[in-house]
Amino acid sequence: MRIFDQHLHSWNSFDCDTPPEDNVRSAIASGLSGLTFTEHFDTHREEWDACVYDDEKIEQELADLRVRFSDRIFIGKGIEICYQPQRMDFILEFLRAHSFDVVLLSVHWAFGKPIHHKEHFDGIDCEAFIRRYLEAVREAAAHLVQMKRDGYQPFHILGHLDLVRRYAFRYFDYAGPLNEPALIDEILSNCLQAGIIPEINTSSLRQGLSAPMPGEEIVHRYAELGGTMMSFGSDAHWAESVGAGAEFALDLMRNAGLSHLAVFQNGELQPEPLND
Ligand SMILES: [Zn+2]
Ligand SMILES: [Zn+2]
Repeated sequence: MRIFDQHLHSWNSFDCDTPPEDNVRSAIASGLSGLTFTEHFDTHREEWDACVYDDEKIEQELADLRVRFSDRIFIGKGIEICYQPQRMDFILEFLRAHSFDVVLLSVHWAFGKPIHHKEHFDGIDCEAFIRRYLEAVREAAAHLVQMKRDGYQPFHILGHLDLVRRYAFRYFDYAGPLNEPALIDEILSNCLQAGIIPEINTSSLRQGLSAPMPGEEIVHRYAELGGTMMSFGSDAHWAESVGAGAEFALDLMRNAGLSHLAVFQNGELQPEPLND
């Protein structure tokens, strides 16, 4: 089957120095059919100054790469939007003015704090930390349902819906289950209602965890609730990580009974059958 990695970064993200060409070469060497750059668009006012997102530069670099490599691989332009409800008008205006193959929405903040800075969560136990993050994702997903009712569907993929597992492991050395089935159900049901597709993000496999984000339990539950497809994203920040964990993620989808890998080109869903 054709495999597409739809979550990865290059030097056009604040936390990455990888030349985009190196990502393309690595994707071709790994046998991928496509890779889509999803550079960070960090919208919170405290992070905005550090955000290096430059749409014109990205367009130019990807156009050059397509001239050289598009006979061998699909090169997509995506974006990873950091969910900030108070910035939604700004986000929507930005998305309307630019074009993308895929728009990824990711929750990196919970209760007004970035979860990647431990000091904000000192004094909170692991259980509460996990719950707070999942509540933030639930709010984001509920917001998307409301937006769809109002006629807006600007986001295609929900990134790493249980990202909190990466930080529970880092801060609390906890690698166990999330133990929040009701919250997970609400998040998944809202995704289905909002028409946004969750991804399987394999970066956790490179950071000491034994499962991607989300893992088996949640992927199975998504299928039980009526989900038929998910996206795959390595979240690579290094060229050698592009496509990493793809087979793991695809097997997880197949074993859960999903039928397709969700692929987006020019904002249109192009499902790839998982069993071809
Ligand atoms: Zn992210
Ligand atoms: Zn990312």
